[in-house]
Amino acid sequence: MFCRIVAGEIPATIVKRTDGALAFKDLSPQAPTHLLVIPTTHVGSLNDAKDGKMLGDLLSFAREVAREAGIATKGYRVVLNTNPDGGQTVFHLHLHVLGGRAMQWPPG
Ligand code: AMP
Repeated sequence: MFCRIVAGEIPATIVKRTDGALAFKDLSPQAPTHLLVIPTTHVGSLNDAKDGKMLGDLLSFAREVAREAGIATKGYRVVLNTNPDGGQTVFHLHLHVLGGRAMQWPPG
């Protein structure tokens, strides 16, 4: 489904795009700022990711997105759910970037 967002076939509020990555607002935000960061090529989950550089670039991109969203200084959380026990429901690799409130630990 996230491939269809990359292709512009379903709407999303896109906040930043590069050749390899896209950031857009989560439809069901769990914090005042809740963005999703995805690779523009299809990778199902972290388990399927073969390209370490792509993973590093995605993390750097998430950091930039957090800075530009104004949440970097106070702090934010990057979450990568993997497979059902990890809470993954959409099988296109994505980082959640959450901020704008204090996070709790441990996660559920
Ligand atoms: P996960 O449970 O880690 O796989 O996260 C999937 C996330 O995608 C959830 O937070 C959903 O709210 C979000 N989501 C699902 N469909 C869309 C969509 N079309 N646009 C934006 N966010 C979406």
